[in-house]
Amino acid sequence: MKSRAPRNFIVLILLPLFLTTLGTTFVSLKMLDGISEAVDRQEMQRSWEAVNSAFSSAGQQISALIVDNARWDDAAQHTGDTVDQQWVFDNWGTTTSDSNYDTVFVLSPQGKVLSAYHKGEVTDLDPSTYFGGSFRRLISSTPAKAAQFRAISTLAWTQDGLTVVAAAPIIPYTPEDIDPDRQYNKLVISRSMDSAHLAKLSRQYVVDGLRVHQLRDAVKDSVAIFDNWGAPIATVTWKPRSPGDAARRSYTSLAFSSVIAMILVLLPISIVHARTMRRMQANERRERQAAREDSLSGLPNRLGLSERLHEQLAIAGGPHVSLLFIDLDGFKMINDAYDHETGDRLIRAIAAGLKVLARNQHFVARLGGDEFGILMVSENARVASESLAQSILDFVKEPFEVDGRVASIGASIGISDNLSEAMDPNELMRRADIAMYDAKDRGGNRFRRFVPALDTRRNENLEIAAELRSFIERGEVGLAFQPIVNSKSHEVVGVEALARWPQASGRMVTPDRFIAVAEEFGLIGSLSTLLLKKACKEVRHRPDLNLSVNVSPLQIGDSRFVPDLLQTLRDHSFPARQLEIELTEGVLVKNPKRTQKVVRELQEHGITVSLDDFGAGYASIGYLREFGFNKVKLDRSLTQAIESDVAVQKIVQGTVLIARGMQAGIVAEGVETEAQAQLMRLAGCDLLQGYHFGKPVEALPAVRPSGAAAPSPLHVFGA
Ligand code: C2E
Ligand code: MG
Ligand code: MG
Repeated sequence: MKSRAPRNFIVLILLPLFLTTLGTTFVSLKMLDGISEAVDRQEMQRSWEAVNSAFSSAGQQISALIVDNARWDDAAQHTGDTVDQQWVFDNWGTTTSDSNYDTVFVLSPQGKVLSAYHKGEVTDLDPSTYFGGSFRRLISSTPAKAAQFRAISTLAWTQDGLTVVAAAPIIPYTPEDIDPDRQYNKLVISRSMDSAHLAKLSRQYVVDGLRVHQLRDAVKDSVAIFDNWGAPIATVTWKPRSPGDAARRSYTSLAFSSVIAMILVLLPISIVHARTMRRMQANERRERQAAREDSLSGLPNRLGLSERLHEQLAIAGGPHVSLLFIDLDGFKMINDAYDHETGDRLIRAIAAGLKVLARNQHFVARLGGDEFGILMVSENARVASESLAQSILDFVKEPFEVDGRVASIGASIGISDNLSEAMDPNELMRRADIAMYDAKDRGGNRFRRFVPALDTRRNENLEIAAELRSFIERGEVGLAFQPIVNSKSHEVVGVEALARWPQASGRMVTPDRFIAVAEEFGLIGSLSTLLLKKACKEVRHRPDLNLSVNVSPLQIGDSRFVPDLLQTLRDHSFPARQLEIELTEGVLVKNPKRTQKVVRELQEHGITVSLDDFGAGYASIGYLREFGFNKVKLDRSLTQAIESDVAVQKIVQGTVLIARGMQAGIVAEGVETEAQAQLMRLAGCDLLQGYHFGKPVEALPAVRPSGAAAPSPLHVFGA
């Protein structure tokens, strides 16, 4: 199927591409999750260590500072037994305003405040209060003796926030000046770690947003910090950098963007594709439908019927199937005679009629030209098919109006059945076709059911056609002449030339049969020409005999018919007035316009034109008037019934009256008895033909005794 490729493109290429991308993205995100968590854990560890380092470096700084200031000869001297307040102020007090420390205390070895400065001013701050619990531990850990000199620092919480504080005894720098037994005063200096200081640490130790909080403030994600002795004094927070998370976020957004980009690319492709596919499928459906539909009638066509038939026959043990092939008799004539629009209208009308008759139960198709097919599926398809066929015949026979003229056609219907085991659909169609041809062979306007004998008949027809072709080529088709006599004098006034199958061929084939075969196989033109030539050759020496030849309705439709006929007459110097053309009434019904034209042309050349087999078919007396025939030949069936049937007598009398009124002659065919001859004469027939006066024979009738005048074909009646 054509549309499978595009559908596969989406299912086999686009969709897997999309799913693979999605899957890969998902898996990498999952992997990245793990990696980024590990990276973030590492970063957290690092930043925590950095925070610790920052605070311990502050401790180290203040420790270094207190060592410089407490182990100093000058300091030890000025803060000895009496404290030189001026010196303390000048050296330590003033610097609390703008140096590395902001508070200084000088304490006695017992811890009494001897001097105190805070941010450049003398202060009465109590260090125990100011530094809190850490102070007691700091002072008690700081020995007052020089030999035990130690500088100790710790973090403490003050009213100025987190503070780093250090303490040490104030001792001489020079070792000789040290009194080992003396209890020295102590120096305490501190520095609050204000926000500026914290910001500086943040930068130095690469810890973002370092902040300090009071213990009592419960801050989320905060970490406690402790004084030198392990007592918690405050909490800190900072913004851990989580580089893994950042990497994952950027990868996620990248992946998200690629998925979006992919969707943005694939979606239009898919949409365009789906649309194209839908269009292609719709086109394909339309094409498929068009390939199975007859545009003129709107019915399914031969392919459509064949497919349906295949489907039906494929159903194992399915219901009986009957197939009807319907061929219109005489449609071609109408089509030739009128314009094609008329033919099209007729086809549409027939199609509509068939659909109505099939009552939506059966599958109606137009097989082409004037052929239709009906597929019947039912348990009693066999019985139903015959009644349907009959109603089709009745429907088709109904006269219809074309261009203001009433015409009618017929139909030949062939029926085939699938009753027993499953049959090949083509065989079923072949059988319907053969049955249909048989119906046509038998004169049309009937239905025939296929029987095996038809196959034989069909094969015979093929053989007959082949033989006939070679007989015609070799000029071997036989010719018989049957006399036509004056109804009063019984004098032979003419002969009808009748085709005969050569006896030497070894088989008997009636003219009815091989004429039909000739018509079917396109041999009728050459056959007629051959017979006309033969007849002309023989009858031209008999000016006393009128020569009648039969012309097939098919020949009337041939534009070469009249010119060829005239040429043959000229070739044989045969007088046109001596020739009579017999047309069967079927041609009138089927091809009225063309027939009228041909009749007139022939008459213009002096040829007599008669209507053959009148009363056998459905031609009305109206045709007589319309076509202006010179003669009417009453069918043998009328002659045979005239003795017994009063109605027939009336028909004959009426026909004679009308023919007389039109100055047309009347011939009675098939006269077999003297009584029939009498009755026909009394009814007004001018001429008689039949076994009673002579069967068709090869030889022409004997020459009349001299003196008898040759009857003019146009003036034999009305005596
Ligand atoms: P048709 O033109 O009506 O010819 C008369 C037929 O009636 C002939 O049959 C003839 O043998 C038969 N017939 C004549 N008198 C009697 C009778 O008293 N009793 C009976 N039972 N039959 C009689 P045939 O020769 O078998 O021809 C049959 C038909 O075949 C002809 O009917 C004509 O339509 C056609 N046909 C014969 N020859 C030709 C031909 O050369 N060209 C064409 N187009 N048709 C031909
Ligand atoms: Mg005839
Ligand atoms: Mg006849």
